[in-house]
Amino acid sequence: MTLNLNDCEGCTACDLATTRRSVVVSRGNSSSRLMLIGEAPGAQEDAEGRPFVGRSGRALDSLLLEVGLDPDQDLYVCNAIKCRPPNNRRPKKGELRSCRPWLDQQLALVDPAVIVLTGATAVEAILGIKGGMTQLRGQWQSWEGRAVMPIFHPAYLLRNPSREEGAPIDLTRRDLAAVRQRLCEPWPDSGSQP
Ligand code: SF4
Repeated sequence: MTLNLNDCEGCTACDLATTRRSVVVSRGNSSSRLMLIGEAPGAQEDAEGRPFVGRSGRALDSLLLEVGLDPDQDLYVCNAIKCRPPNNRRPKKGELRSCRPWLDQQLALVDPAVIVLTGATAVEAILGIKGGMTQLRGQWQSWEGRAVMPIFHPAYLLRNPSREEGAPIDLTRRDLAAVRQRLCEPWPDSGSQP
């Protein structure tokens, strides 16, 4: 059965429907070539109905701007699951499974050339790789013909606020700069940009 993304806001496919305030679907530009996928909405996102709008989101936007990416125009932002888990716990496997059809609809809608995965839950959801982000971040991966860059979750950056060279913030800025560079490269099949 093909889902209509417009129906996501009424979804009751898992128990998170009983505790959420909002279904947090997306922000940004669905016509962009870049899609960023996080873990799950937090309290601020649940209140506003938009992903990455709390302190983590502002930290992310600031780094995007530093590397020349406009958070409103240059990417589409969403999470692996659309409803906030109570007390911001990690999403359960069953919740990720129940919500996957919505994420698949978003991937089909945007059809991104490049995907950024923030944090271990998003990496596992898309790539099926379990591991520490210290090892995974900054290493280009491939998924269904798309270039995929894992980066630290911005909440981790808030807990590690040093801006020194080699600190998580600096490494994430470098990872996002590599993403921007990738978007500017010619696309091998067509000679055009991805
Ligand atoms: S988390 Fe996803 S599957 Fe669960 S109720 Fe929300 S939209 Fe539906």
